[in-house]
Amino acid sequence: MKRIMIGSLNEHKGNEVTIKGWVHVSRFQGKMAFFDFRDRSGKVQGVVFGKPEVLEIAKTLRTEFVVTITGVVNERPEKMRNDKVQNGDIELEISGIEVLNEAATTPFEITEDSINKDEEVRLKYRYLDLRTERMQRNIRMRSEFVRRCREFLMKQDFVEIETPLLTESTPEGSRDFVVPSRHQPGKFYALPQSPQQYKQLLMNAGFERYVQIARAIRDEDLRADRGYEHTQIDVEMSFVERDEVMQIIEDMITEVVESMGHTIKQKPFPRVTYAESMAKYGADKFDMRDEEDKMNGVLAYAWVVDFPFFEKTDEGNWTFTHNPFSMPKKEYLNDLMKAENIENILTSQYDLVCNGFEAGGGSIRAHKPEILKAVYKVMGNTEEETQEKIGHILEAFTFGTPPHGGIALGVERNMMNLMGESALREVQAFPMTNKGKTSVMNAPKPLSAEQLVELGLSVNKLG
Ligand code: ASP
Repeated sequence: MKRIMIGSLNEHKGNEVTIKGWVHVSRFQGKMAFFDFRDRSGKVQGVVFGKPEVLEIAKTLRTEFVVTITGVVNERPEKMRNDKVQNGDIELEISGIEVLNEAATTPFEITEDSINKDEEVRLKYRYLDLRTERMQRNIRMRSEFVRRCREFLMKQDFVEIETPLLTESTPEGSRDFVVPSRHQPGKFYALPQSPQQYKQLLMNAGFERYVQIARAIRDEDLRADRGYEHTQIDVEMSFVERDEVMQIIEDMITEVVESMGHTIKQKPFPRVTYAESMAKYGADKFDMRDEEDKMNGVLAYAWVVDFPFFEKTDEGNWTFTHNPFSMPKKEYLNDLMKAENIENILTSQYDLVCNGFEAGGGSIRAHKPEILKAVYKVMGNTEEETQEKIGHILEAFTFGTPPHGGIALGVERNMMNLMGESALREVQAFPMTNKGKTSVMNAPKPLSAEQLVELGLSVNKLG
């Protein structure tokens, strides 16, 4: 018989149907057996009574067994109905059971809320943790969010383009993860901290509107809201001014989050300068919700603009605050070119803030080689050092690069806000532990002696 999804069983009242899924809960009472069955669309109760041969198989079922169940969809007697749960008005009167696979006793109950489990155990058995309602909901909503953003942009003539993972470092203010080259021993690729340079080169290449659901990989200190890997909705556009990029992203976020049933506190999103934000909130991200908004899951978006371009490092040198490829605000271009008034130069950077988190950030870029060179000079690079670091992009800019700008939205940060979660691991399928160990699998781990020889590496353990 054709499989019916549990979520659509109430369209089959009075009929015999077949479902496939997991035993979620089992209970035995004398000559009766009660179950909850689960598939991707939901749960339903099933009962066995008055069928000794079925009861015999039913008694072998344990939670998380994978089964095919045949039965009649009965309406529950009035007093047994529960309007608050899915399929609370029906139950399956089971006439056939086939065990597709057995399950050992799981290290925790799938019915237990993920949040109460020990992190190590939870991530070691992540595939079981992902079976819980909370994780199913979060991961499915993430897929929905990304799909809707992608569709919005596709309608606006964006092209989805993948950029390399094995590449040269793009500075995003973090450390690189590196990958040794077997063919060129002693040389290394860097995993991208972001596709920043490639997306700018795609503007050079004439695509004009780029999007990528991109992985960004950064060797950072791990925190609840920051991991080594995250995903960005990465966008770049040609022939645009700052306000046009902000507008398209604001329209996208508004359409996507409202269509997913969320309420936005203030539209259009308020715009705050960095100076105002620091004076009012003491930070460049802030939460505008009151207690009632928080209870109702309201999303409070705002833009922060007019950031300083540069800040001093601990060693007293100038470095960029956000992105070295940014264009300064027009009125500061002269200062940048002359390396004057550096502490007061403002950049075209815009950050999208939501509920106290940075939900995204971008800028209009320097599209002329001399402007980018001036930025690198302020940061203390000689002509040769600048050439060595970004010669390829300086050269590209000599061949007719259009003015352009873009932004990247952090998928996890946005999902945390949407789902009211406070940790990254609640919205990623296979996150790392806070010590940097992968879910389920055992990385990082040492390479074998043969692999090291092949790569021309030798390991000198420090500390
Ligand atoms: N590359 C920047 C980042 O990853 C975003 C951007 O400026 O487009 O934060």
